[in-house]
Amino acid sequence: MNYPHLFQPLDLGFTTLKNRILMGSMHTGLEESKNGFEKQAAYFAERARGGVGLIVTGGVAPNRAGWTIPFGSKLSTKSEARQHKKITDAVHAEGGKICMQILHTGRYAYHPMAVAPSGLKSPISPFKPWELSDGGIRETITDFANCTLKAQEAGYDGVEIMGSEGYLINQFIVSKTNKRTDEWGGSYENRIKFPIEIVRSCREAVGKNFIIIYRLSMLDLVEDGSTWDEVVHLAKEIEKAGATIINTGIGWHEARVPTIATMVPRGGFSWVTQRLMGKLSIPLITTNRINMPDVAEKILADGHADMVSMARPFLADPEFPNKAMQGRTDEINTCIACNQACLDHVFDRKTASCIVNPRACNELTINILPTKNKKKVAVVGAGPAGLSCAVTLAQRGHEVHLFEAQSMLGGQFNIAKEIPGKEEFSETLRYYRRQMEIHQVNVHLNTRFEESNAANFDEVVVATGVNGRTVDFEGSNHPMVLSYTDVVLHKKPVGKKVAIIGAGGVGFDVAEFLTHSENTDIKHFMKEWGVDMEYKKGGALLESEEMSSPREVYLLQRSSNKMGEGLGKTTGWIHRTAMRLKDVKMIKEVSYQKVDNDGLHVLIKGQPHVLEVDNVVICAGQVSNNQLYTNLQGKVKHLHLIGGAFEAGDLDAKFAIEQGTKLGIAI
Ligand code: NAP
Ligand code: SF4
Repeated sequence: MNYPHLFQPLDLGFTTLKNRILMGSMHTGLEESKNGFEKQAAYFAERARGGVGLIVTGGVAPNRAGWTIPFGSKLSTKSEARQHKKITDAVHAEGGKICMQILHTGRYAYHPMAVAPSGLKSPISPFKPWELSDGGIRETITDFANCTLKAQEAGYDGVEIMGSEGYLINQFIVSKTNKRTDEWGGSYENRIKFPIEIVRSCREAVGKNFIIIYRLSMLDLVEDGSTWDEVVHLAKEIEKAGATIINTGIGWHEARVPTIATMVPRGGFSWVTQRLMGKLSIPLITTNRINMPDVAEKILADGHADMVSMARPFLADPEFPNKAMQGRTDEINTCIACNQACLDHVFDRKTASCIVNPRACNELTINILPTKNKKKVAVVGAGPAGLSCAVTLAQRGHEVHLFEAQSMLGGQFNIAKEIPGKEEFSETLRYYRRQMEIHQVNVHLNTRFEESNAANFDEVVVATGVNGRTVDFEGSNHPMVLSYTDVVLHKKPVGKKVAIIGAGGVGFDVAEFLTHSENTDIKHFMKEWGVDMEYKKGGALLESEEMSSPREVYLLQRSSNKMGEGLGKTTGWIHRTAMRLKDVKMIKEVSYQKVDNDGLHVLIKGQPHVLEVDNVVICAGQVSNNQLYTNLQGKVKHLHLIGGAFEAGDLDAKFAIEQGTKLGIAI
């Protein structure tokens, strides 16, 4: 059998999960959207059909105070339960099992009704919470129990009680946020009464045969967080109170350690769950940066957990489990942990989707159906836009010819995958290569598409991408001046002192490329980001050290905007912090004067400086490469322009893949 540990059923006594794969909870924004229950039903049913052992929904509040945002999803009434039935029926019809996550946001709520153990504002919400009274605490516990009962009535197989990530329950447990002097505060025993009472009341409400997962914060990553002994103590109490499974929570949302972004090594936090293995008699789930079956299998085989949770990988590929089980691992569309179309969307109050799978959360509207009018289509350019368009067209039964002037597929992805911490992009290229084989795309590498070829095709799609913008000042053609392609792709030698012109996504990537140390293992990552794997004190934080860098780097921009302003909401802070820890000098309001043998001459806020560098790397944005399109206009009846060739200004892979897919559906 492929991945024998992963596909071993898990017997919970009253029910059996068909494998060890949990689709972890993730808020997608479908919860609050129009016809949200129909959309969620289609979204979850597709994942159930893909073979997952157990699904957990996005967080649902047990009462209004627990809402994430005003009028966010909540379950406390019979009529709300009836709506949820659409989800549970759809999942059960596919042979799946589903739990509903109960999430009370506490002081992380984005509304003025927020409550918390103490009236302390969090650094990530503008609202100061109301301190719960003793009666308020007891009502909240009752609301959790009522919510669990309603979930049972709605047909769920269980609930997950969200006790981690710095939400309400976690706020009670940790002294940093619980300053109470009554029976719910003070000693650790008092502070954990809240979660214990919640689990006990929920179990009492629904009886024995209902899954209760408790998501326990095993590594707070905040000052004065729980100690390891406290974590173990709580886990034992939660088991006694009636939980069926314990899931792992890593890091509060306000923690300043990356926990799921792409630079976190794969499976990088399973060591935390492993510490608890053997101490309880109920199964443990581990999580974070598990995105391929071999990673999951190894975690289980090494005894780090009984089950693995993956959330974003199910946006990227709903069929992940079936593909793995059937030995089709090379067909998995891998989550590259970029957060660009999932978490960044949610934080922007937009519905989540997935950069590599635009169909995610659009199951009712984006459908790739067989064509009734087979055409011969030329796609020119094999970057993200061209690849997604070619594969979609071929999936639909068109005859597709993909032309690429370079010797390899991938366009800008070939640059991205060279950036330390972005190696996952090579999985996307592997996925597309395999899809090309399966759907018989005719790939013509090292081939320029000539205008004269166009007559051989019914339609021509131009996806010729971008060129790096060149800059024009005295000495800009000096041998010390390099383009980012020279550096990242062609690996031209770069000296010890470097100035980077342009601090957009590519500028930050190049800075990472030039300052990265070779060591990429889990221990090194934890040390660099100040995580104490020995857990010497509560929260498991170390004093943060400077990260070592092989080079001295200046990262420059002309505007006075915040550096890296255009980077992702959930990842920009990580890039900025990493640069600071590596002592990269990030300088705004720079005017470039000239380059000569002395270095780069600039004005900074009007004052002249010479940056004595060995090299200057140009990362000044992109311009469209659309000459072919211009040449073909008027000569080809069905001509299309997509990706960076269409719009270079705010180009990113998300836009390119989505546009390519949608055109592939439209032709
Ligand atoms: P970008 O984000 O547009 O940044 C271009 C940078 O060059 C800016 O800092 C700009 O700042 C500077 N610049 C523009 N014109 C210039 C000129 N004539 N001379 C000197 N400097 C100039 O472009 P990019 O970095 O190439 O990124 C392209 C796209 O890929 C973006 O959509 C980006 O979001 C995406 N991307 C994202 C990531 C990520 O999120 N990690 C990584 C890579 C790429 P000033 O005008 O202030 O000087
Ligand atoms: Fe993963 Fe990026 Fe897709 Fe989010 S957008 S699911 S992080 S690949």
